[in-house]
Amino acid sequence: MRKKIVAGNWKMNKDLAEGLKLASEIVNMVKDEVTKDVTVIITPPFIHLTSVSRLLAENNQVLVAAQNCSEKESGAFTGEVSAAMLRSIPVQAVILGHSERRQYFGEGDELLAKKVDMALGSDLMPIFCCGEPLEIREKETHAAYVSRQLKASLFHLSEDEFAKVVIAYEPIWAIGTGKTASPEQAQQMHLHIRNVIADQYGKEVASNTTILYGGSCNPHNAQELFALDDVDGGLIGGASLKSRDFLDIIKSF
Ligand code: PEP
Repeated sequence: MRKKIVAGNWKMNKDLAEGLKLASEIVNMVKDEVTKDVTVIITPPFIHLTSVSRLLAENNQVLVAAQNCSEKESGAFTGEVSAAMLRSIPVQAVILGHSERRQYFGEGDELLAKKVDMALGSDLMPIFCCGEPLEIREKETHAAYVSRQLKASLFHLSEDEFAKVVIAYEPIWAIGTGKTASPEQAQQMHLHIRNVIADQYGKEVASNTTILYGGSCNPHNAQELFALDDVDGGLIGGASLKSRDFLDIIKSF
């Protein structure tokens, strides 16, 4: 059975005090309000990971993830953070291939394949983001675009390795824009992704893969999106910065 996951991507927001406040609000609310079997993940900026992870030490309902990691193992790479360093905090997961990393930091398929290998090698769960820009959606070539992203960065993995990966489908035109994919668009793409995985790894692996939706998900639209057959939760940006909104999204299952 695939896991249900709601992950909050804080991006470059919150100073340390604000981050610790948000994390402790989320942990307490999850403890009090979440009765279903949902894995909650929070993804603070690198610099807060140690403090947030200490705050959550006694808690097994909320996991901590990083927003990126290096494709290098260690050494003279000023400013970089390795997967092994993250695991030593300990952090449990890492977002890779977010469209902002692809767009603003030039991260491409090949580099992301190396980052995925590093994450898995350090026992971090990769949350691998894929998704098309608006012009590709308008040309109606989005299915092929996303297939290519998956093949280029993930399909070198063995079946056992692939089974540890979570996919997040995030249409770029929906990220931070207030424009959400319609339930039909989301279901169609999630099913497509599952079929592409099935072609490579077989039906069982595909059916056990968690595929999250991301892109302007909020407390008002989460229920409809999470009810779709092939949507297993969400990767939440803006709405994960407010504990009440984030909790209401988690409770949409
Ligand atoms: C994201 O950046 O992963 C995201 C989904 O952002 P938002 O929810 O703000 O659209």
